[in-house]
Amino acid sequence: MTEALFTADFKAEPHWWDAARPHHTRQAALPEKVDVAIIGSGYTGLVAALHLARAGRSVAVLEANEAGSGASRRNAGYLGRTLKRSFSWLEAHHGAEFATRVYRELDEARQFVFALVAELGIDCHIEACGRFIGANSLAHQSELLRELEVMQRRLGFLYHAVSRNDLQRELASEAYVGGAVIPDLGALHPALYHAGLLRAVAAAGVTVHTGTAFGGAKPDSDGFALTTSAGPLIARDLVMATNGYTPRFAEWLARRVIPFHGFMAATEELPAELVARLIPNRRTVIDSHVNINFIRPAPDARKILFGGLTGGPQPDLQARGRDLQAMLAGILPDLAGVKLSRAWSGQCAGTFDFLPHIGRQHGVWHALGYNFAGVPMGSYLGHKLAQKISGKAEGDTVFGTTPFPTFPGYSGNPWFVPLAMRWFDWQDARLARKAG
Ligand SMILES: Cc1cc2nc3c(=O)[nH]c(=O)nc-3n(C[C@H](O)[C@H](O)[C@H](O)COP(=O)(O)OP(=O)(O)OC[C@H]3O[C@@H](n4cnc5c(N)ncnc54)[C@H](O)[C@@H]3O)c2cc1C
Repeated sequence: MTEALFTADFKAEPHWWDAARPHHTRQAALPEKVDVAIIGSGYTGLVAALHLARAGRSVAVLEANEAGSGASRRNAGYLGRTLKRSFSWLEAHHGAEFATRVYRELDEARQFVFALVAELGIDCHIEACGRFIGANSLAHQSELLRELEVMQRRLGFLYHAVSRNDLQRELASEAYVGGAVIPDLGALHPALYHAGLLRAVAAAGVTVHTGTAFGGAKPDSDGFALTTSAGPLIARDLVMATNGYTPRFAEWLARRVIPFHGFMAATEELPAELVARLIPNRRTVIDSHVNINFIRPAPDARKILFGGLTGGPQPDLQARGRDLQAMLAGILPDLAGVKLSRAWSGQCAGTFDFLPHIGRQHGVWHALGYNFAGVPMGSYLGHKLAQKISGKAEGDTVFGTTPFPTFPGYSGNPWFVPLAMRWFDWQDARLARKAG
C-alpha cells in the first residue's frame, strides 16, 4: 500500500460501517411456511417486510450474507428525486402525463423516506441540506438551468442558479462554471438508516435469516416451494429485492438488470474549519455529467466522502482510491495530497430504459433497477410492493406501468458497461463543446 496515500488505519470498507456494520441476526430455524418470502435485506426488502408484517402477513427475509451487506450500507446517502432521464426527455418520448407522474412519484419517494424516518424515530442524520450541481461547462449550465426551469414551472420543484462569481459560496472550487442549488433534496447516513429499518422489522415480528442463500423456487399448490441453503421453505408470495446483486439464475430479472460497480472513498479526518470552508452550506454535491462525480461532508463534518468512476472495472480498491483522490484534488485543490481512510465499492443496478421497475412475472414479485437512486426508490417501491401484495389499490405506481425491457442476447453479463460509460463521457464532452 502507498503509505503517502492511505492513513495508517485505512480499511477497504465503507466509512459508514464505523457506526453500523452489517451483521448476522440471531439465527432462527427457517419456518416451514410463510405468507411472504423476501429475498434481499436491503431497503427494498426491509420496507416491504415492515409493511407486510403490519398488514398481518407472516414474513421471512432471506439474506445470503450479513444483513445490509448489499448496497444499502455502502451508498452515498443522497436523497434526491433524480433519474438519468430528464423530465423533458420523458415528455418528448412518453408524453407529458407520463413524465409528470414519474417526477411526482420520484418526489413522493424522497418525502416517503423523511416521513418513515420520523415515524420510526431513526437517528440517521437525515436533513434537507440541499444539493449543489456544479456545471462542467457553459453549455452544461444552460442545459441544466433550462431543465430546472421547466420542472419549477411545471412541477413546482424549486431551484436557484449559482453564477461563476458565487461558486465559492457553495464549493471552494474552480472546476465549475457555476451551477444550481436544489434546496429541498436531502442526505442521510445510509447504514444508520438501514440499521433503524432492521430494528423496526424485528419489532414487527419479522425474522431476517442471514447467511441463508435463496437457490430457486418452483410453483407449489400453496404458492412457491423455495430451495435455500438453510433448507426448504413454502411461501404463498415470493419477492425478489436483490437489485445489483440479482443472481443470474433468476433469469427473467437477470436479463433486465445491469449490475455495475459504484466506488467511494473517505478522506482522513480534517479540521472542521477546512470542511466548512470547502463546502460552506454542507450540501451534497454532484456535477452536470451523466456519469457523475459526487462529494459530500460526512454527517459529523470531520471527513469528506466522495465517489465516481462508476461502472469501472472490478474493484482494485487501492487503484480506485488513487484515481478517486486525483479526481477529488481536481475539484477541491485544497485536498491535493490528503490521505484516504476508507475506500469501498458496491453493486448498483441499471436498466435498459433507465427507469426503476416494480411488478410480477411468473408469479414472482420484484422491485429493482434503481439506477443509483435506491435510497428513496428502494424504500418507496418496497412500500408499494407491500401494498400490491396486500391487494391495496394504493400499490399502483407509474413504475409498474411500462414493460421491463431487455436487450437481445443479454443474459446478465454486463460486459458493455465500461463502453456505455465512455459513450456517456463522449456525449458530455460533445455538449461541453457547444456554445453555452
Ligand atoms: C457506491 C454507491 C453509492 C450509491 N449512492 C447512492 C445515493 O447516494 N443515493 C441513492 O439513492 N442511491 C445510491 N446508491 C444505490 C443504492 O445504494 C441502491 O440502489 C439501494 O441500496 C438498493 O437497495 P436494495 O434493497 O434494492 O438492494 P441491496 O441493498 O443491494 O440488497 C440486495 C441484497 O440481496 C441479497 N441477495 C442477492 N441474491 C441473494 C440470494 N440468492 N439469496 C439471498 N440474498 C440474496 C444481497 O446479498 C444483498 O444484501 C449507491 C450505490 C453504491 C454502490
